[in-house]
Amino acid sequence: MMVTTHAAAALLLLAVPASVLVPEFTAAAVVAALLGGIAPDVDLFVGVHRKTLHFPIYASVAGVVAALVAVAAPSAASVAVAVFLLAAGLHAVSDWFGGSDELRPWERTSPRAVYLHPRRRWLRPLHVVRYDGAPEDFLLTAVFALPAALFFVGPVRLVVAAGLVVAATYTVFRRYVPDVLGI
Ligand SMILES: [Zn+2]
Repeated sequence: MMVTTHAAAALLLLAVPASVLVPEFTAAAVVAALLGGIAPDVDLFVGVHRKTLHFPIYASVAGVVAALVAVAAPSAASVAVAVFLLAAGLHAVSDWFGGSDELRPWERTSPRAVYLHPRRRWLRPLHVVRYDGAPEDFLLTAVFALPAALFFVGPVRLVVAAGLVVAATYTVFRRYVPDVLGI
């Protein structure tokens, strides 16, 4: 799935509930949700994509523990750590439901969706979203982002608007990306 879908999902599913529970830490929750939603895909550039920074089990479990800590001792830092880890875990788990890790995922030649570190093996892609940048992927970005933009006021709406523009552009040109890059 596109990084905008992960960021939007984290915003709606994690930052919104966090800001309802602890409204004084809304800013921390929003920033942590966006960063946690984006961070795993940094392994596109360093290490092995969908493995080096994707931790479906470890990040999710650490996120639950951090959420318990945040409930017991709420602060900007504890809320941010919990939301960041849960967002990173959610990102890694949801990549399982997308396409494979290859450059042209619509060709479906790779059986690798995301790496399951405790089992030391790859999960096979479920193709609920056929590939990153597929039309249904853009739809998911919008479905997650728009309610979040309605909920939050101020700069979050600008971030959401920018994210939607990026997602729409990526969706339109996704299939040309490997050719343009010459790979
Ligand atoms: Zn990813």
